[in-house]
Amino acid sequence: MKSTQADTDKMGETPQINLMNLGSPALTDYFDGIGENGFRSTQIIKWVHQHGVIDYSSMTNLSKTLREKLKNNTELRPPTIDDEQISEDGTRKWLVRTDPFNCVETVFIPEGDRGTLCVSSQVGCPLNCQFCATATQGFSRNLSVGEIIGQVWLAARKLGQSSASTRKITNVVMMGMGEPLLNFDNAVASMRLMMDDNAYGLSKRRVTLSTAGVIPGIKRLANECPVSLAISLHATNDELRNKLVPINRKYPIAELIQTCKEYSRATNDGTITFEYVMLKDVNDSVPEARRLAQLLGEIPAKVNLIPFNTFKGNHFVRSSESHIDAFRERLSASGIITITRKTRGSDIDAACGQLVGDVTSKKRSLASSKRGE
Ligand code: SAH
Repeated sequence: MKSTQADTDKMGETPQINLMNLGSPALTDYFDGIGENGFRSTQIIKWVHQHGVIDYSSMTNLSKTLREKLKNNTELRPPTIDDEQISEDGTRKWLVRTDPFNCVETVFIPEGDRGTLCVSSQVGCPLNCQFCATATQGFSRNLSVGEIIGQVWLAARKLGQSSASTRKITNVVMMGMGEPLLNFDNAVASMRLMMDDNAYGLSKRRVTLSTAGVIPGIKRLANECPVSLAISLHATNDELRNKLVPINRKYPIAELIQTCKEYSRATNDGTITFEYVMLKDVNDSVPEARRLAQLLGEIPAKVNLIPFNTFKGNHFVRSSESHIDAFRERLSASGIITITRKTRGSDIDAACGQLVGDVTSKKRSLASSKRGE
């Protein structure tokens, strides 16, 4: 006997559409499609992202019939938090579960009246940068919109942010696990929600996307969602960068710098941040600082020097403070604003490049529990 739609519904097998995965335009289309006013999209976004409400029955400005319809056909399902760690410096790290096999990490870094949320875009990462812990776990999959914006949603709830007046998250950086430009559509839809006045209302200066240099993605971003851009540069010549950041073989330095110039021009001479991890005896000499200044000469640029954060199984060593200072002073002497990024949350492995999300060990423990170990 053929099973009917109603049967499948009864068995709870109908795949429900998770409205968390829809940005504002897609949500408007959804409501158009079910014969509802597209304005419902704004109402839902406000409930979910401003008030943190995901239970349809509390959405009192929607008719009862619509609430029923939504309850039967859709869901609002953010990811969940498996674990929370709080550093002695106040940094918080959440292990965010996205499915039974995978977790990503999200980090909140408070600093005075600023609060920066570092968001992941992929489970693992395919880029294999040699100094990054995330690379060691390989690539599992792209995160959905619901899983990316869901990290902001979860952090806002955990921090007690329920309106603009209780704002705790003042900045978001797409600098967690993964390469956001390789998950372009979902990263952009999520960043649009971060900037949507009906959701988190952050200005585009306060939303930063960090990339290892995926040139086609940077070009698209300039046209479609020109947020603040950070480039993980880490070397001044292709020979070294090919080794440290292997995607450089595809998108070499000269082309990357040219693309950055165009991005800056497209964003009214916006400043581009260049990140440079300080690796002892690898990329940290004063002549390298001089070459970096030359390279960035024609771009409105700011440089963030990131002292290398170590992790198990890695052979790099952090540059000494005096080397980092000398490097910074050489860049500053060329008129480039340069700061040494403070290492935050390293006691809980929440610093740059230390995020792993525990994916492999979870997989391992799941496999062993299946074997009854
Ligand atoms: N894939 C993106 C975003 C994630 S990495 C990108 O490459 O930009 C976020 C930043 O941390 C990048 O600048 C990255 O190069 C840096 N980073 C990675 N591993 C690090 C480590 N072990 N110590 C310090 N910084 C690191």
